[in-house]
Amino acid sequence: MSPRLTRTTSKYFSSKTNVPETNKLNKSSSLSKTVTRKATRKHINIEIEESSSVNNLEKRLDKEPPTPPTSWEEVYNAIKEYRKNIIAPVDTMGCERLADEPSDHITPQTSRFQTLVSLMLSSQTKDHVTAAAVQNLRQKLPGGLNLDSILQVDEKFLDECISKVGFHRKKATYLKQSAKKCKEEYDGDIPNTVEGLMKLPGVGPKMAYLCMQVAWKQNEGIGVDVHVHRITNRLGWCNTEQAGPEATRKVLESWLPRSLWREINPMLVGFGQTTCFPQYPKCSNCPVKKMCPSVSF
Ligand code: SF4
Repeated sequence: MSPRLTRTTSKYFSSKTNVPETNKLNKSSSLSKTVTRKATRKHINIEIEESSSVNNLEKRLDKEPPTPPTSWEEVYNAIKEYRKNIIAPVDTMGCERLADEPSDHITPQTSRFQTLVSLMLSSQTKDHVTAAAVQNLRQKLPGGLNLDSILQVDEKFLDECISKVGFHRKKATYLKQSAKKCKEEYDGDIPNTVEGLMKLPGVGPKMAYLCMQVAWKQNEGIGVDVHVHRITNRLGWCNTEQAGPEATRKVLESWLPRSLWREINPMLVGFGQTTCFPQYPKCSNCPVKKMCPSVSF
C-alpha cells in the first residue's frame, strides 16, 4: 500500500503544543504502524500505512508537492546564526574535514577515498572517535591511508586500527570489500554516483549523499543522519519520525531550496550535538524556542 499524504491547515507554529508521542525516537517502531501526529499546527502530515515503504514517497511528493512549513526560513536562519557562535564537534572533526586535501603527495583519488573511509567509520560513532581512528589509519597503514594500503593489510590489522569505532569488525570487512570493488570496478577511484556509492558494502544513503557533496562537490541530495531526522521532526518540518531518515530526506528535498541541501547537515548536526539533544534538549537556551512546536522546559 502506498504512503498516504494528508495535510492539515491548523496553525503551524503555535507557541506551545503538545509534544506528540511520535516525537520521541522509538527504535522499536516500524513502517508497519500507521503514523499519526496530534500537534495543533500546520504541517505536512505523512501517514505511512501498514506494509508500505518509502519507495513511492518521492513520486507522491512530486505529484502533490507539500507546502513549505510556515516560518521555516525564520527558524532556519535563527539556528544558522546561533551556530556561528557555537563550536560543535562536527565543525572540527566531522567527516568532511578528515580527508587530506589533494596536494603533491595526495592524489584527488586518495583524498576522495579518505572521505569515503571517514564516512564509513562514522556511523554509530562520535566524531572525535572517528577522527582518532582516521588518524590511526594514516599513521599505521603502510604508505598512509589510501586504497592500496587498505588492500595490502589483513583485515585483523585493519580492525585493530579502528577498534574504537562502533561495529569495527564489520566496518573492517566493509572497508576491505569496498577498496577491492573501487580498485577493480572504478579504476582505483570511488564511484561518482549515489547509486554506485550505495553498491559499496556498508554505504547507505546518508553516506552516499554526503560523499557526493564532499568528495565530488556535487549536490545530489540531503545527508540525513539521526540529528537531522530528529530535529526536523521536532521542528515540524516533516512528520516522518517513525518512517525513518529516508522519508525525512524525501520530504525535506520536496520543499527546501537545493542551495541549502549541503549546509543543513552540519548545521543541524552541530545543533543536535550542543543544544537539541536526543534526550533533555536545552530548550531554555534554544534560539527557536518560541517557534518550536516541541519545546519543553
Ligand atoms: S532545543 Fe527544544 S525548542 Fe529548540 S529545537 Fe530542540 S526541541 Fe525545539
